[in-house]
Amino acid sequence: MNTLPALFEERMRKLLPEESEAFFAALQTEPPVSIRLNPGKPVPISRLFPDEQIGLPVSWCESAYYLKSRPVFTLDPCLHSGTYYVQEASSMFLYHIFGQILPAHPVRVLDLCAAPGGKSTLIASRLSSGSLLVANEVIRSRAGILKENMIKWGTSHVVVTNNDPADFHHLKGAFDIIVVDAPCSGEGMFRKDPGAIQEWNESNLQLCSERQQRILADIWPCLKPGGFLVYSTCTYNPGENEAILERLIRKYGARSIEIAPLFPGIVPGNSTAHCYHFYPHRIPGEGFFTGVVQKTEGEEFRAGKVRKNTKHTPPLLPGDIRAYIRTPEYYRPYAKDNIIGVIPEQHSEFIQLLEANLHILYQGCEIAEIINRKSKLLPSLALWQGLNKANCALLDTDRMTALTFLKKEDIPVPPKTAEWLLVTYRGQGLGWCKHLGNRLNNYYPKEWRIRMTIE
Ligand code: SAM
Repeated sequence: MNTLPALFEERMRKLLPEESEAFFAALQTEPPVSIRLNPGKPVPISRLFPDEQIGLPVSWCESAYYLKSRPVFTLDPCLHSGTYYVQEASSMFLYHIFGQILPAHPVRVLDLCAAPGGKSTLIASRLSSGSLLVANEVIRSRAGILKENMIKWGTSHVVVTNNDPADFHHLKGAFDIIVVDAPCSGEGMFRKDPGAIQEWNESNLQLCSERQQRILADIWPCLKPGGFLVYSTCTYNPGENEAILERLIRKYGARSIEIAPLFPGIVPGNSTAHCYHFYPHRIPGEGFFTGVVQKTEGEEFRAGKVRKNTKHTPPLLPGDIRAYIRTPEYYRPYAKDNIIGVIPEQHSEFIQLLEANLHILYQGCEIAEIINRKSKLLPSLALWQGLNKANCALLDTDRMTALTFLKKEDIPVPPKTAEWLLVTYRGQGLGWCKHLGNRLNNYYPKEWRIRMTIE
């Protein structure tokens, strides 16, 4: 690891007077590896990794495990089918927080700083399908990665947007829960990302804190009265952590929420706000900070009427496409350019409102592209948890064939039983091939293909 900035060392010695040596020693060790399984694509951990590689479960998150060594994830087709997500363990604490703050009724959740999608994939699985998640990322290129990860995770009660926090100002009181996993000075990632050490300096800490305050000021009105805001960073700097939560309480009258029970190793912050630190010498994971506040007053959401001329008339789903959907009655079809997709019917008005105000990159599930009145099935359908596999012709593959498909190369041609073949690995969809008689057209998206050499 690169040399730590002297000023950072000095600050950490003050923050952790008794434990700083253990803390610095932990930074010299290899970062732990952990994964979270996708409950919507159930494959037991024992089928994903050899027994000797599987470590302990992550205590605060269901279906999450440490791995004793780091596999070459890119060469595991199950990563590409969204069967699991590689996520550092401390940030999975959000699972435990949601267990406490989620009401019994369906909710609308905004994950404001969402790329690459670690927290959004967790939230998407934590919510019931009657709820809606808006996963937003302001940086365009990062929003593309978020979209890809959400498609692979395969939940359709999600909308991916690419907006600045200020663009949400039309949606006052619209969200029951807002997650702000804020851009920060990244001190907690020094071990994993040496680049963060280079960028660290005193004036950047101040800039980060000001940006966090701006983000929260922009988004606070969008939280419903009584709703919860979950704030987190991957840094130790109190100016980006405790001070930010205290300001929410002071300036906006927010109520601090205690998360209980806690788990051994998690350190409550030194603040009037309930908040929690994850340090690498106490917990196998990266540095992480989080706290929850509740909004006590403010504007209620008024949906307004979606104007008649902007209201979409849902297209009829062609019969061949409808057959691919497990519960079509739950969805409303939409047509955009020549793409046909579906969104959850119960959120269709709200999604139209989002469309009128935000830059939507993806919504629900895109099913097919219509070209010359014929349907070309889209990869997102193959990866969707709502796909009716009983109506698909399956082409189950071994690892080498799956990887060849994921490289967008030719795979062996089976006897023709159907035109569209769902290429699967360990029972989970990877994408589509079209049977042309003597060869298969591989429809895996070019931009997702594996570029690594397969061994
Ligand atoms: N939540 C993500 C996850 O779990 O995978 C990680 C989010 S990362 C800590 C913070 C994100 O905030 C980055 O994707 C970054 O591009 C985004 N960001 C940067 N500047 C921002 C701003 N001014 N407003 C909102 N988000 C911003």
